[in-house]
Amino acid sequence: MGENPRELKGREIAENGNQIKRVNPLAYTVKSQNGNGAYSILKDGSEWKCSCPDHTHRNVKCKHIWAVEFSLALRESRQPNRSCTCPDSRLPRLRI
Ligand SMILES: [Zn+2]
Repeated sequence: MGENPRELKGREIAENGNQIKRVNPLAYTVKSQNGNGAYSILKDGSEWKCSCPDHTHRNVKCKHIWAVEFSLALRESRQPNRSCTCPDSRLPRLRI
């Protein structure tokens, strides 16, 4: 583990900031690393799908998917005091 070049690259992308754009919780875009446009990463059930050739042609977990996963992990680690993420806790409290 840790020797996977896609994983390493994905971590690099995630730590670089501004490469990843959150469209919504199930959709992200990651800038192409050769500077031409961006790829869409969409959550399909429990799996991420990416529009890049590496993922669509080789069916591997590409660096963009790694990047989104790393960025999600970073987000969570930066949100202290939010122990409960169940749906109810996100609804506005009703005043009685
Ligand atoms: Zn990709």
